Amino acid sequence: MTEQWRTVVVLPVTADSPLGRAADPVATVTAHLPPHDSRTRCALCPDRAWPCHLFNAAARDLAALGIPVGYLVPLELHPVLWPPTSTPPPDPRTTDTPGAPDG
Ligand SMILES: [Zn+2]
Repeated sequence: MTEQWRTVVVLPVTADSPLGRAADPVATVTAHLPPHDSRTRCALCPDRAWPCHLFNAAARDLAALGIPVGYLVPLELHPVLWPPTSTPPPDPRTTDTPGAPDG
C-alpha cells in the first residue's frame, strides 16, 4: 500500500511577508496534490481529477500574489500541469540573437 499523503515540511515565514500572506492558498495547493500512486487524482477530492477545482482556485490566488505555484508542486507533477508542447524549441545554431556579434 502506498502513502496517501506526501511528506511535508514546515517553514517559518513572517506573517506579513508575501509568502506569509499566501498561507491559505499555499496550504490548499499542498493539501490538494495527488498521492504518490497517482498523478491525476486529488488526495482530498478522490472523485475528482487533478488538478481539482480547489487546487486551481488556490493556484490562481497565488498567481495574483506573484507566487509561482510550481515552487509548491513536486517536479514529477509539472508535466501534468504544463504538458510538453509538440513544437520543438528553436535550434540555437540557426536562431539569430539580436545584439550578438556576427560570426
Ligand atoms: Zn482537491
